[in-house]
Amino acid sequence: MINKLLSDFQNNRNDISLFLEIVKYYRFSNNFIEAEKFINENKQFKNDDRVKFELANIYFCIDKKDKAIELFEKLINSETINILYVVFELIKLYKQKQEYKKAIEIIDVALKKEPKNKELYLQKIIFQRFIPDGKSAIVTLKQFKENIEDSNSIKLIKNIENVEKSRRQIAPYRCFFTWGMHYNCNYNCTYCYAPKPQDITFENNPNNVARYGKKENIIDSWKYIYDKYGSSRIRLDGGEPSIYPDFFEIIKELSKFHRLQINTNLSFDVNKFCDVSDPETIRIDASLHCEYTKLETFIEKLNFLKQKGYKTTVSYVGYPDFLENIPLAKKTIKQINIPFFVHPYSGFYEDRQYPQSYTEQDKIFIYDIDCESKTELVWRQERKSKYKDKKNIDIETKWSKKEIEDFQKRKQKQFEEKRKAGKYKICEMGQMYARIYPNGNTYRCCSSDGNTYLGNLFDKTIKLLEHSEKCYDIDNCRCWRCMVPGEESRWLHTWLDDWETEILEIK
Ligand code: SF4
Ligand code: SF4
Repeated sequence: MINKLLSDFQNNRNDISLFLEIVKYYRFSNNFIEAEKFINENKQFKNDDRVKFELANIYFCIDKKDKAIELFEKLINSETINILYVVFELIKLYKQKQEYKKAIEIIDVALKKEPKNKELYLQKIIFQRFIPDGKSAIVTLKQFKENIEDSNSIKLIKNIENVEKSRRQIAPYRCFFTWGMHYNCNYNCTYCYAPKPQDITFENNPNNVARYGKKENIIDSWKYIYDKYGSSRIRLDGGEPSIYPDFFEIIKELSKFHRLQINTNLSFDVNKFCDVSDPETIRIDASLHCEYTKLETFIEKLNFLKQKGYKTTVSYVGYPDFLENIPLAKKTIKQINIPFFVHPYSGFYEDRQYPQSYTEQDKIFIYDIDCESKTELVWRQERKSKYKDKKNIDIETKWSKKEIEDFQKRKQKQFEEKRKAGKYKICEMGQMYARIYPNGNTYRCCSSDGNTYLGNLFDKTIKLLEHSEKCYDIDNCRCWRCMVPGEESRWLHTWLDDWETEILEIK
């Protein structure tokens, strides 16, 4: 076919339609180099906007992003190219370069010409939240409501309006809690770094002792949080949440006023779960543990939940021994259209500390499977903190009360020294996020000294910080999602609302 087109073109070198057909043929066959060469060889069309549009798309595909942006920007006022085609390509490019303000500017230009375009409003809201500028996002939401009348948008608008109910207008806009319900688990994965009751060191930390309250009290405690901080997102983890006493009843009630994110090994009865819970407010973050689950059984349950309307994701720990299982798992899970994430392993394996010890080949392998894990891996690698080192724990010795007290005093002393040294970062953790331990004690975050006690869930004494505050424990901060203002490009995308994830998945 291409030979015929080329030969026809040789006989009529001024036929722009034929020329564009050839360029598109090359482009859609992913032969970008040939497409670019063909354009450069035929300068007679160089001022035609349709050709510029093709060239910009080619640059985009061959990773010449700056050149692509330059050309697309010139086409904004084109008479021959639909502005929406240009703007949506630019949006993708700006997003990749994290130039969110430019994306908003270009959307505004397009909205003047296309004030009824739903997708433009939605993209604008997301970028305004990424800047972050929650207040402006609410203004755009209002404009969206005024201009868009189609019935399909009603559900989406309702979801977005939850943003307005959140306590503050700052990123990530909703309060987030992680509730480690307990430490019990029906699995015992090799790489698990959750403390376990059978660990000899378990009793060293008073927070490790779970408090199992009555379900009525637990539900009441979360209503108290709702009254104070609005509809929040609660991540339930542990151990395994689904083996917590009265799990199904607790889920049923909590999902009426909060959004739940359940981090589970998916060992529970999915039929029973679907009977009592609402897919609108629950997301299932299933982790695939190949030592305990058969892939087919796992997929069957996952697919069942997805068919019932639950948002689902799958994560997998990049433990060195199990890296080889990833391609098949990923392929099978992607077939049912569920996002798959790889978490780099943090810990020791054969006397080597990970993730620092991943080989270059391992890293390429992990990025290829899940490019999002790159940010997490780089962040974890850069941390100086020590992850759980089995070798460093004297497993024969249980600490005495005095040793525990001495340890706490040393920690306090180190903390005071850091405070005196004046090295700190401002962090929103504690204001927009809190970590609740199985005994209900609530802290600013998961890191050791970054913890500021914020009250107890079961006693209804939780009080979040009024403002983002200084943290003196930045050297030991293990959280790659820590909410440092000004560093939103690192963390904000990990605290998205469901409606935002929905839109991003469409893209
Ligand atoms: S399922 Fe999760 S909590 Fe349970 S042992 Fe495995 S990694 Fe640990
Ligand atoms: S910077 Fe890290 S350690 Fe400090 S409060 Fe934030 S998440 Fe916690």
